[in-house]
Amino acid sequence: MNKPIRKVLIANRGEIACRVIRTCRNQGIKTVAVYSEVDANAQHVIQADEAVMIGAAAASESYLVHDKIIDAAKRTGADAIHPGYGFLSENPEFAERCEREGIIFTGPSAASMRAMALKGAAKKLMEDADVPVVPGYHGNDQSLETMTKEAERIGYPILIKAVAGGGGKGMRMVYAADELEAAIEAAKREGQNSFGNADILIEKLIQKPRHIELQVFGDSHGNAVHLFERDCSLQRRHQKVVEEAPAPGMSDEMRQAMGEAAVKAAKAINYVGAGTVEFIVDVANGLDNAPFYFMEMNTRLQVEHPVTELITHQDLVDWQIRIAEGHEIPFDQDDINSFVSGHAVEVRLYAEDPYNNFSPAIGTLSVFDPYALENEDQRIDTGVIAGDDVSIHYDPMIAKLIAYGDDRESAIDNLISLINTTPVTGLTTNRDFLISALDHDSFRAGDLYTGFIEDFSDTLLSKPAPSSNDYLLAALSTLASRSIMTDDPWSIQDSFRVNLPKTETLTFIDGEDIKTASIEAVGDAFKITVDEHTSNVSVLSFEDNLLTFELDGLRSSIFADVQNDQVTLVGRYTQTIKRFLAETAGSDDADGPGAITAPMPGKILEIKTSNGASVEKGDALIVMEAMKMEQTLKAPRAGIVEGLNMKANDQVSDGAILLTINDVTEE
Ligand code: ADP
Ligand code: ADP
Ligand code: MG
Repeated sequence: MNKPIRKVLIANRGEIACRVIRTCRNQGIKTVAVYSEVDANAQHVIQADEAVMIGAAAASESYLVHDKIIDAAKRTGADAIHPGYGFLSENPEFAERCEREGIIFTGPSAASMRAMALKGAAKKLMEDADVPVVPGYHGNDQSLETMTKEAERIGYPILIKAVAGGGGKGMRMVYAADELEAAIEAAKREGQNSFGNADILIEKLIQKPRHIELQVFGDSHGNAVHLFERDCSLQRRHQKVVEEAPAPGMSDEMRQAMGEAAVKAAKAINYVGAGTVEFIVDVANGLDNAPFYFMEMNTRLQVEHPVTELITHQDLVDWQIRIAEGHEIPFDQDDINSFVSGHAVEVRLYAEDPYNNFSPAIGTLSVFDPYALENEDQRIDTGVIAGDDVSIHYDPMIAKLIAYGDDRESAIDNLISLINTTPVTGLTTNRDFLISALDHDSFRAGDLYTGFIEDFSDTLLSKPAPSSNDYLLAALSTLASRSIMTDDPWSIQDSFRVNLPKTETLTFIDGEDIKTASIEAVGDAFKITVDEHTSNVSVLSFEDNLLTFELDGLRSSIFADVQNDQVTLVGRYTQTIKRFLAETAGSDDADGPGAITAPMPGKILEIKTSNGASVEKGDALIVMEAMKMEQTLKAPRAGIVEGLNMKANDQVSDGAILLTINDVTEE
């Protein structure tokens, strides 16, 4: 009996919540978002038809609390809950709770989840179903004695895994017997701390592995199919960064063998819904006929599902919902094999620093416009826009950027172009690293394996320091941004002529290095000197953060985001150049002209002076409100006020020149 779903509560946040909402909207299904206190203005809340606040920022007080989510579903009359991934998606108690409450859970049964929850038990189950598993030991005896004996039998190097592990946690590589005990202890501790289970298993460490996984679906009528494979071999810390479908170099024979093994795994646990069977492939002698082994099954939708959607031309969330309603899978394996076409690649854009051990970053997105896409071969899945925070509370993934092409090469080209046309500023990201990886000769050649990033770290993980030219462009962007004021009719060149002091020094700080850009206005152009090299530059336009300029006769453009205390230039590399605020607020030099600039975007509250007024150094001239704070801007020097054309309530952008103070004798 089919039970139609008319309203879905999404027990998740961020990009996957938005992703589920998109399908529901297409299918005319109403949506309910749940959110924590810090997510009140998040995209998933804005995009859903209804939303329920469920508690404090910590997931343990909101997104993970069964009672709160069930209450929200009841209050809003949702007849199904989609768990997304992470959070409650692989929690059998929650799936059972939904069943007891008469709410459809759009995932597998609690029994299927339990069967695959522990890696050791799952491997045992797969062995019994004749699915090849990585040679190793996954028995109950956890004594050091047994582990030592088993490690000898398997042969070093080996890999220790926490049986309850996930997300690359709880794993330790061991190359020799004398490292074993310490590694076991570390893996047990991590397993206990992160997953509440200290049990471990041992596997043969595959030296040159590829991670290839099969997307599977089962329905409540006993059918199971696979939707081809994804290669997720580009990993850092055993976590995926680049994923693609199909796997480069995969033969039809091998796909058939792995596909059959994956479907067998799904059928062995009467699987219903979307799942992924992960295999590790030993490619020491290439991919053709390489041995492959079951690694684990993830009983949920996977982060990287979009690449499968693009090559199968199917909506997997729609499949999940239909199967949860009780429908049969709409196609058989032969149908699927016949309609798969093209190639798709995905990158995970993270707030993290690849040049510092991929350490996670936080911050506020300054520029990021994921909804500006026009090319139908490009896709962005995200839950944030400019102005949103990436906080310490949740996953640091900003977005998934995905591209399709008729073949692998064009998919990669489309993806690089998507990254290039989607600037993201305001916080540290792995954007530049992603381009390096996609454009690497070995990646383009399809020579993938999980050690790829480490092996090519010299080219992938080093970032060039800012050049003199970057400082020059930062100075130019700062100057150009000042002339842009809300509702200001002046052209850039007029405002430069009217407002800019004849000479000025901008100071930048780069780590320990302090760099100065000396600027001299010459007609409509500037002479800018950095590192004793002088260039003649003029700004042609500065719109939508795109600075078009002429530099010593050469016309060019660069993306620049000017914030009050820094300039971010996005070209092949992203350079964030910090400014010394004190200097940009105007020269303190009693002999030179002074300017008052807005220290950040905001609103003018009060003007305490007027054109022609004579002021003393330190006089309060303008009161403005910025970042919810009142600030009084004072005269940097004595002189006569000129160029003031603001009034109270005007909005000003950061760096805008509000007035200049000139010498009395200058007339
Ligand atoms: P995958 O194999 O899809 O990369 P992992 O096993 O690495 O998945 O991680 C488990 C899943 O949980 C991933 O899909 C990951 O993105 C998701 N996840 C991890 N932490 C969070 C979080 N704080 N919020 C939402 N999802 C999360
Ligand atoms: P998780 O649950 O954390 O995703 P997995 O068992 O799926 O753990 O393994 C994560 C990653 O670790 C794999 O994608 C692969 O890169 C690496 N890995 C796992 N098992 C082995 C192995 N036996 N040999 C070499 N690398 C492995
Ligand atoms: Mg895994």
